Amino acid sequence: MSASLLRRMLYLLAVAMPLAGSHATAAEKLKAVASFSILGDLVSQVGGERVEVKTLVGPNGDAHVYEPKPDDARSIAAADIIFVNGLGFEGWLGRLRDASGKANVITLSAGVTPNGIDPHAWQSVPNTRIYVRNIAQSLCALDAAGCPAYKANAEAYELQLQALDADIREMFAAIPQDRRIVITSHDAFGYFAREYGVTFLAPEGVSTDSEASAQDVARLIRQIREKKAVALFVESISDPRLIDQISRETGIKAGGALYSDALSDEQGPAATYIAMMRQNAILLVKAMQES
Ligand code: ZN
Repeated sequence: MSASLLRRMLYLLAVAMPLAGSHATAAEKLKAVASFSILGDLVSQVGGERVEVKTLVGPNGDAHVYEPKPDDARSIAAADIIFVNGLGFEGWLGRLRDASGKANVITLSAGVTPNGIDPHAWQSVPNTRIYVRNIAQSLCALDAAGCPAYKANAEAYELQLQALDADIREMFAAIPQDRRIVITSHDAFGYFAREYGVTFLAPEGVSTDSEASAQDVARLIRQIREKKAVALFVESISDPRLIDQISRETGIKAGGALYSDALSDEQGPAATYIAMMRQNAILLVKAMQES
């Protein structure tokens, strides 16, 4: 056996064997899986130090059309608890979950008033407060010793969400109703629309799994002209070409990229849920004021 092979084997043994004395650190953390990046942030906010969070669909990923990787099945098999959005958002998750035999799957939208078939409930901050309470409750059920910490984290985070919600309302309050009309790639902002009084028009439906037809686009262009939309937005998860085409045909200017279904990477402007909601509101209001 060569020396380098021996070294590699020893290394593998060392990383595979739990070390005596390391018990109190990583080994004791609860293992949570979150289906996509926005939930991953919320679970981290509430779980804090006691929970290790693995996110399946990462930053800038499209959870509507995600194809699970072998690594995801391993993460789910190893998880103590799995957090999903529900409302039909993660169609791909069912098979993974069934294959793993996991029962501890928490649907975070439980308790939200559904907006038709639209799964994007987190686009309303009051709904996200419901998600946060669901996370705290389910972590408490799993780990009683950590419950005071989960509750304290959730309460502190909810205060930040309350402030965020108030800020967004204040930002839109100054915009006349007839200027609050914009276009996005897919219908991801129904809850935002209902909560904050903005009208969103989109060529694609509430999922990204089917492309907009030529008729959809023609209908949208008619709507844009009738309703006098003020700006167009691409989405971080979507192909910008269709929005570019609509921009050329209608002469309406592009207002930047909104974050609907995923956070940005850490260097981006939407690395957390709160940063994402703020960034979206800032871009929307700016476009409405400037148009
Ligand atoms: Zn979506």
